[in-house]
Amino acid sequence: MKEEVTVNGKDFSVYLTKEEIIGRVWDLGQQITNDYRGKTPIILSVLNGAFIFTADLVRHIELPLNIEFVRLSSYEGTSSTGKLTEVLGLKTDLENQDVIIVEDIVDTGFTLSNFVKTVKSKNPNSVKIVSLLRKPEAISFPVEIDYVGFDIPNDFVLGYGLDYDEVGRELPQIYKLVE
Ligand code: 5GP
Repeated sequence: MKEEVTVNGKDFSVYLTKEEIIGRVWDLGQQITNDYRGKTPIILSVLNGAFIFTADLVRHIELPLNIEFVRLSSYEGTSSTGKLTEVLGLKTDLENQDVIIVEDIVDTGFTLSNFVKTVKSKNPNSVKIVSLLRKPEAISFPVEIDYVGFDIPNDFVLGYGLDYDEVGRELPQIYKLVE
């Protein structure tokens, strides 16, 4: 497995290996399995970044699941509402459902905090969030993450679904920008 990669002219070095990622994904799958026993939660996976994490995570949750993929896009609201997040692709009625939102990375928390509000407005029975990565130093929109894979420093990362200008999502490990 490559220790270093160059993407769009920038150098990245390995930060989380394939073994470390899979070990942690397995732990998260076990926790979710224990916490949702007897239920059929809905997995709401946020595209594009969470596609690989979701594919691995759901194979480690030993429960029946509904799995949906959504896309979030930011747009300017009125001057009083500021930026808003639009949710595209949500087809299932979430009323009385146990929703698990799956994200790749929480940086400022802006995207997720807005998305959670939208999901809660649909009267689900419960909402929990799982994020593979979290940058605690960057959080400026507080949002409680129920299951965190790894807390990481405020550096740019790619691989395992995460891109740099749409390049690098297919890399099996997570790489960090070399300053
Ligand atoms: P937030 O709204 O929390 O500031 O940003 C979340 C989104 O920003 C993520 O879903 C991801 O698309 C992008 N992002 C934030 N940090 C990184 C990073 O280090 N690497 C990559 N590839 N994307 C990031």
